[in-house]
Amino acid sequence: MMRIIFVLLVSILSLFANPIASAAQDKLEVVELDYNLYAIINPQGGNIAFLVTRKGVVVVDAGSTPQNGRDIVEAIRAITRKPIKYLIITHLHGDHVNGIAGFPQDIKIIAHKDLEKNNEIFNQENLANYMENVLPEHLASLKKQLDTISDTDSQEYGELMNTYNAHVDYLENIKQIEFRKPDIVFEDYYRFKLADERIMLEYPGPGHTSDNIVVKFSNHNVIHTGDLVFDGSFPYLIIEHGVDVYNWVRILDDLYKENINTVIPGHGEIGRKIALKDQSDYFKNLSHRIEALMNAGHDLNEIKKRISISDFRLKGNEDQLPINIEVIYSELNNKGRDWWKF
Ligand SMILES: [Zn+2]
Repeated sequence: MMRIIFVLLVSILSLFANPIASAAQDKLEVVELDYNLYAIINPQGGNIAFLVTRKGVVVVDAGSTPQNGRDIVEAIRAITRKPIKYLIITHLHGDHVNGIAGFPQDIKIIAHKDLEKNNEIFNQENLANYMENVLPEHLASLKKQLDTISDTDSQEYGELMNTYNAHVDYLENIKQIEFRKPDIVFEDYYRFKLADERIMLEYPGPGHTSDNIVVKFSNHNVIHTGDLVFDGSFPYLIIEHGVDVYNWVRILDDLYKENINTVIPGHGEIGRKIALKDQSDYFKNLSHRIEALMNAGHDLNEIKKRISISDFRLKGNEDQLPINIEVIYSELNNKGRDWWKF
């Protein structure tokens, strides 16, 4: 049990930005997807979408830190001077919400009704622990390592010093994180118009998290899936955050049948509709393999040993594969294998 808690802690912590990545301040890349509709490739957090209308801008997701949020606002400003009116948050994870403090104060935040509760239960405590314990301890150990290097002109010292400074900056950055209450919350659907644009938000039930929503830009046949799609990397599955792989697959298969041209995934390459199918196929293949190994009499540990990272053409979040196996294994056991059929 202790080990599971540790794995969970590590995996939640990695939902924050990587301090070293955020130290490299490259301008964020903006991709035009359709008339007035853009995506921002955000290596420091989740991918962003923004829609420009006569009456203002609608943004999807806020990035991983206040600085990341400011960089996102700056990238939007390079395209339009129209005010940002709405910020839609796809789900509770830090790499999608912690940039909110970098946005203007007068925006309206829209999210699923459970986001605020999830922020209180998971994010605030986690962040406090991260700022008060995890990062300071890490800084202290980096400082110790620095003190053991006598040649302060050496490359080793210089590199370690850069890492240390990046973490100090990162700590200052995340101290500015604000947990703002969403201004508009909804349970199943929320539709609104801004100028000539129709925006449709849907809660498809739990998948990646208990509060994950899908954002549809109806005039463009483009959707932002939040982390219901990790294109090209292993997905994050966190039991405490309400993961439901079975329902997740159904959500993806339903979306794939819809009249959608372009998918903006939470993470990974922007634009591929087929990413919906790829994500679904990943879960189906993995669950079929786990089921076959269960039927052959193997226990969870043995199953984990028999399924390896190299069996998949995915890169990134490799530490998630054993957790993915654990979650699907427990769903197969709890829900019943006959029911868990695709
Ligand atoms: Zn997520």
